[in-house]
Amino acid sequence: MPIPGSGLAKGLAVTLRTMTKRSHTAQYPEVQPQLPPRSRGVIGLFEENCTVCMLCARECPDWCIYIDSHKETVPASTPGGRERSRNVLDRFAIDFSLCMYCGICIEVCPFDALFWSPEFEYAETDIHELTHERDKLREWMWTVPAPPALDPAAEEPKEVAAARKAVEKAEAAAAAAAAAAAAEAETPATPEADA
Ligand code: SF4
Ligand code: SF4
Repeated sequence: MPIPGSGLAKGLAVTLRTMTKRSHTAQYPEVQPQLPPRSRGVIGLFEENCTVCMLCARECPDWCIYIDSHKETVPASTPGGRERSRNVLDRFAIDFSLCMYCGICIEVCPFDALFWSPEFEYAETDIHELTHERDKLREWMWTVPAPPALDPAAEEPKEVAAARKAVEKAEAAAAAAAAAAAAEAETPATPEADA
């Protein structure tokens, strides 16, 4: 059972505390705000990773991702092999006047083609300009911060482990080839060979 008037007392305590603090006004745009690196400012597109699977456009609650593509036939890479067809991206655009910055598109993209950038200074006087086409979305990629460092105790990611093993194997093969070449160069020539 709350004590009568305790709410009022708490409210007055908050008022008194706030009254004694200096107010702080950020002088934007003269002074840039210190935003956390993972702020949701704008979305960048890494086009090379996009397979035009359409998952992001389907899952976007605002239907503000526009994707156009066409199919292309890739000839067989081996004799007797089969031709393959692949999607080619024609248009990728996001309408930031509709986007609600939920991040679902980034979460669902299975190929790591979409990223958050903390950039937020892209206000426009014409609402149509808030639809960013693929070139502009690609430019935002330059402002995407690098991923945080891995936890030292974390397991090595599969891709990194595979790449490291491939490099080690190639280095061992190169070292063995160099050693064999050196040994061959040091072997004295036989008299028959000299004759
Ligand atoms: S952040 Fe949300 S609303 Fe914006 S494009 Fe992605 S899924 Fe759509
Ligand atoms: S989910 Fe990713 S790969 Fe699929 S269309 Fe969207 S950006 Fe491209």
